[in-house]
Amino acid sequence: MRPVIDIRNVHRIFESEAGCAHILHNVSLAVNPGEFVAITGPSGSGKSTLMNILGCLDKPTAGDYYLQGLNVAELDDDELTEVRALSIGFVFQSFNLLPRLTVIENVMLPLAYTNVPRSQREMRAVHALQAVTLPVDHWDHRISELSGGQMQRVAIARALVNDPPIILADEPTGNLDSATGALVMETFHKLQKRGKTIVLITHDPGIAAEADRAVTIRDGRIHDGAYIPHAPRTLRGAVDSLPMISASI
Ligand code: ADP
Ligand code: MG
Repeated sequence: MRPVIDIRNVHRIFESEAGCAHILHNVSLAVNPGEFVAITGPSGSGKSTLMNILGCLDKPTAGDYYLQGLNVAELDDDELTEVRALSIGFVFQSFNLLPRLTVIENVMLPLAYTNVPRSQREMRAVHALQAVTLPVDHWDHRISELSGGQMQRVAIARALVNDPPIILADEPTGNLDSATGALVMETFHKLQKRGKTIVLITHDPGIAAEADRAVTIRDGRIHDGAYIPHAPRTLRGAVDSLPMISASI
């Protein structure tokens, strides 16, 4: 099986006038299609820095990233934007919804940047809202009228509207009480059953324990849970037929 996410020996160094901050150290991690992986570790350990790289919002200072077999370093900015839009749905701790728009308008937003015809956009949003089980009578409510748990489910619906194979969620339950957080976790489990690959970042070990695999990161180093496939180097566009021998370390 070819991992959908495969990062090898990644470093991230931030440079500023104050000096260099070496935040990620030799991070290697692979995620197989359909897996639900939690990345856990204390605050400041580099989880969001890693997530930004996984989501192609940031690039490694050194090391490789293969996203669905594509070498991210070889993509130009337009290709990267397209790959990101088609491959990845993002969910954040603070929901990042537009409060003055309605639920369904928020969910349709990502489609404005695609070639999905206008006539199909609403239907896509309806499917996404059904997937997160938000009641129909809430769909025309403004975001500001919703509870936190409902807001996060709208954010998940927005992440789903392009039907990406991968969902990246950075502390999605961080602003929710534990009962509401549990409902949001149920939504992620449902999405996994529908075939999505989920990478969820959390500092909460209880939440991390719900995933198939928990990867622990401390001071920018992976301590536990990385799965590194021993595969031949993949070539752009010619990756599907490659044999792969996997081993857990
Ligand atoms: P976590 O998500 O695990 O709490 P982060 O990845 O947000 O941790 O941050 C890890 C470390 O990297 C922190 O010390 C943070 O200050 C630092 N950091 C994050 N982004 C930058 C940046 N753009 N420039 C400099 N330092 C950064
Ligand atoms: Mg963070």
